[in-house]
Amino acid sequence: MIVKMDLPIVRQEMNRLEAIEFFRQRGDLYKVEILSELDNETVSLYSQGDYVDLCRGPHMSSTGKLKVFKLTSIAGAYWRGDTKNKMLTRVYGTAFEKKAELDEYIMRMEEAKRRDHRKLGRELDLFDIFEEGPGFPFFFPKGMILRNNLEDFWRSVHTKAGYQEVKTPIILNQALWHRSGHWDHYKDNMYIVDIDDEDYAIKPMNCPGGMLAFKRQPHSYRDLPIRMAELGLVHRHELSGALHGLMRVRCFTQDDAHIFMMPEQIESEIEGVVRLIDSVYSVFGFSYKLELSTRPENSMGSDEQWEMATVALKNALDKLGKQYEINEGDGAFYGPKIDFHLEDSIGRTWQCGTIQLDFQMPERFDLTYVGQDGEKHRPVMIHRVVLGSIERFIAILTEHYAGAFPLWLAPVQVKLVPISESQAPYAHEVCAKLVQAGIRAEVDDRNEKMGYRIREAQLQKIPYMLVLGDKEREAGAVAVRNRKKGDLGVMSTEDFIAKMLQEIADKSNDM
Ligand code: ZN
Repeated sequence: MIVKMDLPIVRQEMNRLEAIEFFRQRGDLYKVEILSELDNETVSLYSQGDYVDLCRGPHMSSTGKLKVFKLTSIAGAYWRGDTKNKMLTRVYGTAFEKKAELDEYIMRMEEAKRRDHRKLGRELDLFDIFEEGPGFPFFFPKGMILRNNLEDFWRSVHTKAGYQEVKTPIILNQALWHRSGHWDHYKDNMYIVDIDDEDYAIKPMNCPGGMLAFKRQPHSYRDLPIRMAELGLVHRHELSGALHGLMRVRCFTQDDAHIFMMPEQIESEIEGVVRLIDSVYSVFGFSYKLELSTRPENSMGSDEQWEMATVALKNALDKLGKQYEINEGDGAFYGPKIDFHLEDSIGRTWQCGTIQLDFQMPERFDLTYVGQDGEKHRPVMIHRVVLGSIERFIAILTEHYAGAFPLWLAPVQVKLVPISESQAPYAHEVCAKLVQAGIRAEVDDRNEKMGYRIREAQLQKIPYMLVLGDKEREAGAVAVRNRKKGDLGVMSTEDFIAKMLQEIADKSNDM
C-alpha cells in the first residue's frame, strides 16, 4: 500500500538535544537512549508520512520506488543484544530491482540454510553448543577426527615452511596484559580470574605469550627470521545476541604465528606467508581476494617505517603476481596488513587469513637481537593466521562441502555393508585390513534391510561404500560405490586399499 501511495522520504537534520526531546515526546524511548549516548552535534532523521526514524541514510527518494521485495523472516532480538534487556521484534526483508534477482537470492538463501553448519554438525554428530556453555563449542569423536586431520595438515605445512611450534599458557597475570596494551584497549572482551588475590586474564590473543617465548633467550641476527607458530586457544567475550554456531563463539583456537625478523627480511617473509596461505586454501578449492590496508590516522611508528613496510607488502604481492585492492587508512595502528577473503562453493566470502606487520609490540616488550655490528637492534614482527579460527574454519568447510567432506577429512571414509548376515564375518575381515592400512572404516551389519543401511551411509555423506555378497567373498574382492560417482565395479581388496591411500595422500577434492 505504501508503494502505491508513493510517499516522499524526507531527510532532515536536527540538533541532537532537540532530537532527544522530539523522540521523548513521541514516546520512542529507545531512540532517546541511543541519542543520549552519541556525541555528534547533529543527527539525521528520515520521515515518510507520519513515520519518523533516526537513520544515517541514505534512503530511496520515495516509497513508490520499491519494486520487487520480500519479507524473509521475523525474529526476537534483545535490545542491544543483551539478554537482560527487553525482547524486541526484528523484521527482515530484502528488495531487488528485478524479480529474477530476488529469485536467485532466495535460492541462494535456501542453499545456505541446507548447508547450515549448526544443523549439519548435529546430523553428522561432529560438534554442538549446549545451553550450559553459550559460545563454548563441544567437538565429538567424529568432529575431532576432522579437526585433528586439519591440524595435522596445518602442522606438516608449517614444519616444511620452517616454523617452530610453541604452546603458551591460557592464563597470565595482569601486569603482562598492561604491558601488551590489552588491559587498556581490550579489557571489556576479556575474562578475568582471581588467583591468590591477584587478577589474571584468560588470553584473548596469543601475542603476549609469544613475546615472552621470544624473550626467553638472546638472539643474534643469524637466528632470524624466527617463525613461531601456535595453535592457541583464546577466549573473548561476545554479547550473547552476537553468537552464531561455530562462526561466532567465545572461545576458539587461532592458528597463529609470530615471525620475528630484520627489516630487510620483511618482503621475503611476507612472500613466504602468502605462498603458504595460498597452498593451504588451494587444497580446499577456495579462491580468494586480497586486500592491503595502509596507514591509518593516529598510528604509531615513523613515516619511514610505514613507507618501508607498505612498500615491502606491495612488492611481495606484485612479485607473486597477486591482484589486490588497497584500503587506504584501514591498517591497524601498529602496522599495515593484508587480508584474505576466501570464496566458498556457493559464492559467499569469508575473511580468514591475515598478515599483519607490527612495530609496536617489539617496542612494548623491548625485543632485541644483536646485529652484525655487535649492537642491539629492534626486530620487526608479523602476526599472521591462515585458517583464522579453527572452529570457524570447520564451520566454513562444513558449509562449503555441505557436510560431504573430501576423503582425507571424512570422519568415516568407508562403510562396509554385507548383503546378509552370512557375509558379516567377511565384512569384518576386510574392515580390519582397511583399518590396519590407516583407513577409517566401519561395518554396518545391523539387522536392517540393505537399502536402509545404504541410504543411511549416504545421509552420513560417507565417501565410499563397499557392498559385500557371496561373489565378493569368494573372489576376496569388494564392490565399490562412490558417494558422487556411483558404482565403480568390483576390485580386489588390495587394489581398493591402494586407491584409498593414494586419494588420501593427494587430499583429492574431486569427490
Ligand atoms: Zn599476534
